[in-house]
Amino acid sequence: MLDIKDLHCTIDDIAILQGINLQVEKGTIHAIMGPNGSGKSTLSSVLAGHEDYSISQGSITYQEEDLLAMNITERALNGIFLAFQYPISLPGVSCSNFLREAINAKLKFQGKPDMDALQFAKMLRAAAEKLNISTEMLKRGVNDGFSGGEKKRFETLQMMLLQPDLVIMDETDSGLDIDAMQRIAENVNQLKSPERSFVIITHYQRLLNYIKPDYVHILAGGRIIKSGDSSLAEQVENEGYQNILQQAGA
Ligand code: ADP
Ligand code: MG
Repeated sequence: MLDIKDLHCTIDDIAILQGINLQVEKGTIHAIMGPNGSGKSTLSSVLAGHEDYSISQGSITYQEEDLLAMNITERALNGIFLAFQYPISLPGVSCSNFLREAINAKLKFQGKPDMDALQFAKMLRAAAEKLNISTEMLKRGVNDGFSGGEKKRFETLQMMLLQPDLVIMDETDSGLDIDAMQRIAENVNQLKSPERSFVIITHYQRLLNYIKPDYVHILAGGRIIKSGDSSLAEQVENEGYQNILQQAGA
């Protein structure tokens, strides 16, 4: 699905990612954990195609293609989905119109006709219900005046409807209470499939009690300093990052 080799990136000439190597097989869940400021959001932005970051070295192959040669729209159309740590608001663009446009853009890219309005409404209602998103909320502007938890639920709704191949979730659990987090985790678990991969970025281990990762990586100082199975997340929970950083000489 994804093969990142020796990835270095800078912003305003400041080196942020300093040699990331990561292989994500189809159907697997990778968790990326790390202290604040270690480069987690930068990595997710670079994968999604944010133009402020320049790649100074390395390569990213996605589904056998050169990801760095694709622009942000092409990446989304090809099945990459990023759930933002801090989703932005789009006042004046209603949630339901936003979702319909996104779905139709993807269908058009696949050479298919627009989705029938009734079929879309039915699908939207069913998915929204699962996330406890009301019809009133879908009429509002995207994230316009939404609470932190509502924004995260709306991110999850987008993911459910777009059915991406590679999901990147940047601290989707931050600012959520346990119930909201469990509901999001349940929906993520329902989306698990042999054809879909997840990169779940989280500062804390608690989300990983509900979404079991196949691999856990610790990112620090722009590098992956340790990789392991889900027991590595438990080690972080029990000991914090300090020991792992020291052992890795980071
Ligand atoms: P994390 O998500 O792990 O907390 P980030 O990827 O947000 O970390 O940030 C990694 C480092 O890059 C931090 O030191 C941060 O200050 C720096 N950084 C990120 N974006 C910018 C930017 N737009 N301009 C300058 N520095 C940035
Ligand atoms: Mg971040």
